[in-house]
Amino acid sequence: MELLKQRILQEGFALPGNVLKVDSFLNHQIDPALSAAMGKEFAQRFADFRVDRVLTIEASGIAVGLMTALELGVPLVFARKKKSVLMTEEAYTTDVFSYTKKETSHVSVLKKFLPKDERVLIIDDFLANGDSALGMARIVEMAGSEVIGIGIVIEKSFQAGHKRITDAGYHLESLARVKSLDNCQILFAEN
Ligand code: 5GP
Repeated sequence: MELLKQRILQEGFALPGNVLKVDSFLNHQIDPALSAAMGKEFAQRFADFRVDRVLTIEASGIAVGLMTALELGVPLVFARKKKSVLMTEEAYTTDVFSYTKKETSHVSVLKKFLPKDERVLIIDDFLANGDSALGMARIVEMAGSEVIGIGIVIEKSFQAGHKRITDAGYHLESLARVKSLDNCQILFAEN
Protein backbone atom coordinates (compact mmCIF):
# COMPACT_ATOMS: atom_id res chain seq x y z
CA MET A 1 0.00 0.00 0.00
CA GLU A 2 1.82 3.02 -1.36
CA LEU A 3 0.38 5.60 1.05
CA LEU A 4 1.48 3.54 4.04
CA LYS A 5 4.97 3.00 2.64
CA GLN A 6 5.38 6.77 2.16
CA ARG A 7 4.38 7.41 5.77
CA ILE A 8 6.80 4.75 7.00
CA LEU A 9 9.64 6.37 5.04
CA GLN A 10 8.71 9.90 6.14
CA GLU A 11 8.04 9.21 9.83
CA GLY A 12 9.49 5.81 10.72
CA PHE A 13 12.68 5.15 12.65
CA ALA A 14 14.59 1.91 12.50
CA LEU A 15 15.80 1.18 16.02
CA PRO A 16 18.48 -1.30 17.06
CA GLY A 17 17.04 -4.78 17.59
CA ASN A 18 15.10 -4.77 14.31
CA VAL A 19 12.33 -2.61 15.69
CA LEU A 20 10.54 -0.08 13.54
CA LYS A 21 9.12 2.90 15.39
CA VAL A 22 6.02 4.41 13.80
CA ASP A 23 4.43 6.01 16.83
CA SER A 24 3.34 9.16 14.97
CA PHE A 25 0.56 7.33 13.09
CA LEU A 26 0.18 3.71 14.31
CA ASN A 27 1.53 2.92 17.78
CA HIS A 28 0.89 5.97 19.94
CA GLN A 29 -0.60 8.87 18.00
CA ILE A 30 -3.07 7.43 15.48
CA ASP A 31 -3.91 8.91 12.10
CA PRO A 32 -7.66 8.41 11.57
CA ALA A 33 -7.57 8.99 7.81
CA LEU A 34 -4.74 6.53 7.30
CA SER A 35 -6.46 4.01 9.60
CA ALA A 36 -9.63 4.35 7.50
CA ALA A 37 -7.67 3.85 4.27
CA MET A 38 -5.99 0.75 5.73
CA GLY A 39 -9.36 -0.63 6.87
CA LYS A 40 -10.69 -0.15 3.34
CA GLU A 41 -7.66 -1.90 1.86
CA PHE A 42 -8.03 -4.92 4.19
CA ALA A 43 -11.77 -5.06 3.50
CA GLN A 44 -11.05 -5.15 -0.26
CA ARG A 45 -8.37 -7.82 0.10
CA PHE A 46 -10.70 -10.03 2.16
CA ALA A 47 -13.91 -9.11 0.30
CA ASP A 48 -14.49 -12.66 -0.98
CA PHE A 49 -13.78 -14.40 2.33
CA ARG A 50 -17.22 -13.95 3.98
CA VAL A 51 -15.85 -12.56 7.24
CA ASP A 52 -18.14 -12.81 10.31
CA ARG A 53 -15.89 -11.04 12.81
CA VAL A 54 -12.54 -9.27 13.15
CA LEU A 55 -10.19 -10.18 16.00
CA THR A 56 -7.23 -8.05 17.02
CA ILE A 57 -5.11 -7.52 20.14
CA GLU A 58 -4.79 -4.44 22.32
CA ALA A 59 -3.67 -1.79 21.88
CA SER A 60 -2.23 -0.98 18.47
CA GLY A 61 -4.39 -3.38 16.46
CA ILE A 62 -7.63 -1.76 17.60
CA ALA A 63 -7.75 1.32 15.35
CA VAL A 64 -7.09 -0.48 12.09
CA GLY A 65 -9.10 -3.50 13.23
CA LEU A 66 -12.06 -1.22 13.90
CA MET A 67 -11.86 0.45 10.48
CA THR A 68 -11.65 -2.97 8.82
CA ALA A 69 -14.66 -4.23 10.75
CA LEU A 70 -16.60 -1.07 9.89
CA GLU A 71 -15.90 -1.56 6.17
CA LEU A 72 -16.88 -5.23 6.34
CA GLY A 73 -19.97 -4.50 8.47
CA VAL A 74 -19.01 -6.99 11.19
CA PRO A 75 -18.10 -6.75 14.91
CA LEU A 76 -14.57 -6.21 16.17
CA VAL A 77 -13.31 -7.97 19.29
CA PHE A 78 -9.89 -7.40 20.78
CA ALA A 79 -7.85 -9.76 22.89
CA ARG A 80 -6.82 -8.38 26.26
CA LYS A 81 -3.23 -8.75 27.41
CA LYS A 82 -3.89 -8.21 31.10
CA LYS A 83 -6.56 -9.68 33.27
CA SER A 84 -9.18 -7.09 34.15
CA VAL A 85 -11.63 -7.13 37.05
CA LEU A 86 -14.28 -6.86 34.34
CA MET A 87 -13.29 -10.26 32.93
CA THR A 88 -15.51 -12.19 35.32
CA GLU A 89 -16.99 -14.49 32.71
CA GLU A 90 -15.47 -17.49 30.97
CA ALA A 91 -12.69 -16.69 28.55
CA TYR A 92 -10.40 -18.35 26.03
CA THR A 93 -6.78 -17.72 27.01
CA THR A 94 -3.33 -18.42 25.64
CA ASP A 95 0.21 -17.27 26.39
CA VAL A 96 1.84 -14.90 23.90
CA PHE A 97 5.44 -13.70 24.03
CA SER A 98 5.70 -9.99 23.24
CA TYR A 99 8.42 -9.06 20.75
CA THR A 100 8.69 -5.48 22.00
CA LYS A 101 8.08 -5.99 25.74
CA LYS A 102 10.11 -9.23 25.91
CA GLU A 103 7.62 -10.79 28.30
CA THR A 104 4.87 -13.36 28.08
CA SER A 105 1.30 -12.15 28.50
CA HIS A 106 -1.73 -14.19 29.30
CA VAL A 107 -3.98 -13.11 26.41
CA SER A 108 -7.73 -13.59 26.70
CA VAL A 109 -11.06 -13.05 24.97
CA LEU A 110 -14.43 -13.62 26.62
CA LYS A 111 -16.13 -16.71 25.17
CA LYS A 112 -19.35 -14.79 24.53
CA PHE A 113 -17.52 -12.55 22.03
CA LEU A 114 -16.14 -15.47 20.01
CA PRO A 115 -19.08 -17.67 19.06
CA LYS A 116 -18.31 -20.98 17.38
CA ASP A 117 -18.63 -21.73 13.66
CA GLU A 118 -17.65 -18.25 12.55
CA ARG A 119 -15.17 -17.06 9.91
CA VAL A 120 -12.72 -14.79 11.70
CA LEU A 121 -10.25 -12.31 10.21
CA ILE A 122 -7.24 -11.56 12.43
CA ILE A 123 -5.70 -8.07 12.18
CA ASP A 124 -2.49 -6.85 13.82
CA ASP A 125 -0.18 -3.87 13.49
CA PHE A 126 3.16 -5.70 13.08
CA LEU A 127 4.39 -9.15 12.16
CA ALA A 128 7.80 -10.11 13.55
CA ASN A 129 8.10 -13.74 14.73
CA GLY A 130 4.38 -14.43 14.49
CA ASP A 131 3.67 -15.13 18.16
CA SER A 132 0.90 -12.57 18.44
CA ALA A 133 -0.96 -13.61 15.25
CA LEU A 134 -0.54 -17.33 15.97
CA GLY A 135 -1.74 -16.79 19.55
CA MET A 136 -4.91 -15.15 18.23
CA ALA A 137 -5.34 -18.01 15.73
CA ARG A 138 -5.16 -20.49 18.64
CA ILE A 139 -7.90 -18.59 20.44
CA VAL A 140 -10.16 -18.60 17.34
CA GLU A 141 -9.66 -22.35 16.97
CA MET A 142 -10.32 -22.98 20.69
CA ALA A 143 -13.65 -21.27 20.07
CA GLY A 144 -14.47 -23.72 17.28
CA SER A 145 -14.24 -21.06 14.58
CA GLU A 146 -12.09 -20.71 11.47
CA VAL A 147 -9.26 -18.26 10.81
CA ILE A 148 -10.01 -17.14 7.25
CA GLY A 149 -7.00 -14.84 7.06
CA ILE A 150 -4.45 -12.71 8.85
CA GLY A 151 -4.04 -9.05 7.90
CA ILE A 152 -0.92 -7.24 8.99
CA VAL A 153 -0.17 -3.52 8.66
CA ILE A 154 3.64 -3.84 8.63
CA GLU A 155 5.32 -7.17 8.06
CA LYS A 156 9.04 -7.49 8.74
CA SER A 157 9.64 -10.11 6.07
CA PHE A 158 13.16 -10.91 7.25
CA GLN A 159 11.83 -12.32 10.54
CA ALA A 160 10.23 -15.71 11.15
CA GLY A 161 6.53 -14.74 11.27
CA HIS A 162 5.76 -14.84 7.54
CA LYS A 163 7.02 -18.41 7.16
CA ARG A 164 5.42 -19.64 10.39
CA ILE A 165 2.02 -18.25 9.37
CA THR A 166 2.06 -19.46 5.77
CA ASP A 167 3.51 -22.87 6.79
CA ALA A 168 0.57 -23.21 9.19
CA GLY A 169 -1.70 -22.73 6.14
CA TYR A 170 -3.12 -19.29 6.95
CA HIS A 171 -3.79 -16.73 4.23
CA LEU A 172 -1.60 -13.71 4.98
CA GLU A 173 -2.04 -10.18 3.62
CA SER A 174 0.41 -7.44 4.62
CA LEU A 175 -0.03 -3.80 3.65
CA ALA A 176 3.71 -3.05 3.75
CA ARG A 177 6.56 -5.55 3.74
CA VAL A 178 9.90 -4.42 5.14
CA LYS A 179 12.81 -6.55 3.97
CA SER A 180 15.54 -4.96 6.07
CA LEU A 181 16.17 -2.48 8.88
CA ASP A 182 19.95 -2.93 8.74
CA ASN A 183 22.07 0.15 9.49
CA CYS A 184 18.86 1.89 10.61
CA GLN A 185 17.72 2.06 6.98
CA ILE A 186 14.19 1.01 6.00
CA LEU A 187 14.05 -1.13 2.85
CA PHE A 188 10.82 -2.56 1.44
CA ALA A 189 10.39 -5.98 -0.14
CA GLU A 190 8.95 -6.07 -3.66
CA ASN A 191 5.19 -6.61 -3.77
P1 5GP B 1 5.36 -11.05 16.79
O1 5GP B 1 4.35 -11.56 17.76
O2 5GP B 1 4.97 -11.31 15.34
O3 5GP B 1 6.76 -11.49 17.09
O4 5GP B 1 5.40 -9.47 16.95
C1 5GP B 1 4.26 -8.73 16.65
C2 5GP B 1 3.84 -7.86 17.81
O5 5GP B 1 4.97 -7.25 18.41
C3 5GP B 1 2.96 -6.75 17.30
O6 5GP B 1 1.67 -6.92 17.86
C4 5GP B 1 3.61 -5.48 17.75
O7 5GP B 1 2.91 -4.97 18.86
C5 5GP B 1 4.99 -5.86 18.23
N1 5GP B 1 6.06 -5.55 17.26
C6 5GP B 1 6.87 -6.46 16.65
N2 5GP B 1 7.80 -5.84 15.91
C7 5GP B 1 7.57 -4.52 16.04
C8 5GP B 1 8.23 -3.35 15.50
O8 5GP B 1 9.21 -3.41 14.74
N3 5GP B 1 7.71 -2.15 15.85
C9 5GP B 1 6.62 -2.03 16.68
N4 5GP B 1 6.20 -0.80 16.96
N5 5GP B 1 6.01 -3.11 17.22
C10 5GP B 1 6.47 -4.34 16.89
